[in-house]
Amino acid sequence: MGRLFFVGGNWKCNGTSEEVKKIVSTLNAAQVPSKDVVEIVVSPPFVFIPSVKSELKPEFHIAAQNCWVKKGGAFTGEISAEMLLNLGIPWVIIGHSERRALMHESNEFVGDKVAYALSQGLKVIACVGETLEERDAGTTMKVVAAQTKAIADKIKSWDNVVLAYEPVWAIGTGKVASPAQAQEVHAELRKWLETNIKAEVAAKTRIIYGGSVNGSNCKELAGQNDLDGFLVGGASLKPEFIDIIKAAE
Ligand code: PEP
Repeated sequence: MGRLFFVGGNWKCNGTSEEVKKIVSTLNAAQVPSKDVVEIVVSPPFVFIPSVKSELKPEFHIAAQNCWVKKGGAFTGEISAEMLLNLGIPWVIIGHSERRALMHESNEFVGDKVAYALSQGLKVIACVGETLEERDAGTTMKVVAAQTKAIADKIKSWDNVVLAYEPVWAIGTGKVASPAQAQEVHAELRKWLETNIKAEVAAKTRIIYGGSVNGSNCKELAGQNDLDGFLVGGASLKPEFIDIIKAAE
């Protein structure tokens, strides 16, 4: 079954309005593969979303980097799923390892957030991944399976979910997983979906890789059978993001 290649750019907490303008003009000037070859999403900080959305050409869709776990209200500093929908934002990243580690988001909390975002009509890039200690202890699959199960337990459909495998030791470190390491976990995750959800979900769900992807290592990673795209941090702020998008070809 053909899975449309997916490339997301997570800008994290970076950028001034001038820098954001530069990134937008670089993206707008680029020739990117057509929408039947790659789905492209960029994720600016909340405050820049309206301007990026109105200035970027339509080949690029917008993802928020987070949203609140339930309906908005008295939750100072949070942004609700309803607000994102109100602005016409189709995607949200949930469960990024930086939020899991720094904001102490548990597997269960991430599962609740994914479920609420989906219930409101958002599409979700749901992140899982092990730390270096967990990999060294041989528990990679146990960890990512538990993270995936916590999401699976709360959702009714995987139709609007992209699963991002992001080993924590590879994020922002320049230490990319080898194509074989990435393929091994992606294949195991797909098997997990087949065993625990159903074969059709396993065949259809896009599993993307994130962790120090750049213009030089993207092509070989993209060639792996179970790797359906990328979630890119640092390199999504640079012109080489275009080369990563073109790895879909
Ligand atoms: C990320 O933060 O999702 C990420 C993959 O970062 P980087 O590409 O910088 O490792």
